Amino acid sequence: MKEGLYTKKLKAERVICSLCYQQCILSPDGRGFCNVRENKKGKIYTKNYQKFREEKIDKIEIVPLFHFLPGTKTFILGSVGNNLVSSTEIEVDNALKELKKITADQAVKRAIKGDCSSITYLTDEPTMFYESMIEVAKNAKSNKLKNILRTNGYLHEKSFSELIKYLHAISFELDSADKETLMQLTNGKLSHIEKSIKMAVEKGIWVEITTILKEDVNDSEGELRKLAEYITSIDKNIPWHVENAHDKKEIFNQLKEEYELTNVYLGLEDTLCPKCGKVVISRKDNIINVKKNVCDLCKKGRVQGTF
Ligand code: SF4
Repeated sequence: MKEGLYTKKLKAERVICSLCYQQCILSPDGRGFCNVRENKKGKIYTKNYQKFREEKIDKIEIVPLFHFLPGTKTFILGSVGNNLVSSTEIEVDNALKELKKITADQAVKRAIKGDCSSITYLTDEPTMFYESMIEVAKNAKSNKLKNILRTNGYLHEKSFSELIKYLHAISFELDSADKETLMQLTNGKLSHIEKSIKMAVEKGIWVEITTILKEDVNDSEGELRKLAEYITSIDKNIPWHVENAHDKKEIFNQLKEEYELTNVYLGLEDTLCPKCGKVVISRKDNIINVKKNVCDLCKKGRVQGTF
């Protein structure tokens, strides 16, 4: 176990953890909401330090990220812990037993050996292995690997601003732009997640957004309209991935036009040039016709992202 970052001692050996927006107060021998941070004699320790369960290599599109080094391989790391989805101590402890120890050095060496261009921090909620992630990310960056995070965006702004110094791309999960619906779906406050997305965009990190639709909860036209409006308000070029939306093609075509969204994906779809309309990134054939962010077919259309 390693001592956790972003903690402050209170009276009677209680400690506040400020790593994420949950801001838990941990009593002696108690744990935070995520169940992977524990108070031992007035100090918070992380139970998942250097413990990983997912160690595999996959295409970067799995994250999903479609406009960041498309077609390349990424080394995926995941651990245990979630700050929005509750689980019992027993569930977390059992899951922790399945994990393997991997140091930052080992992770980076395996990524390089596997011909990966990046390391992706993917599950459960990867910011809950913050201390390990920072170590791997620093090491990866100095070895010229990119760092990618898939997150619910609920890390506190202080810890998040430190972490993003080492990140190159983030895939945020945002299931609604309506505060009540989002609370119902994820127990998260919309304003906190929006703050994280805004900070990442302002710092120049490549951002893509994923929405997972749940029938009769966040799949109405009104809900989708709010999300489209929100994305356009930040940047209409942010790629928006929508899962479980195959029967909603028409609505999305309408939203794309109305809100001028350039990159909406309802699955593993190709990217079209905004000028000539031809396929510039073919995901099935792994063909990329983009040079310096310009369509190589018509030499006019701009395609945002890192290629
Ligand atoms: S990281 Fe865990 S203990 Fe800390 S505030 Fe978030 S949920 Fe609570």
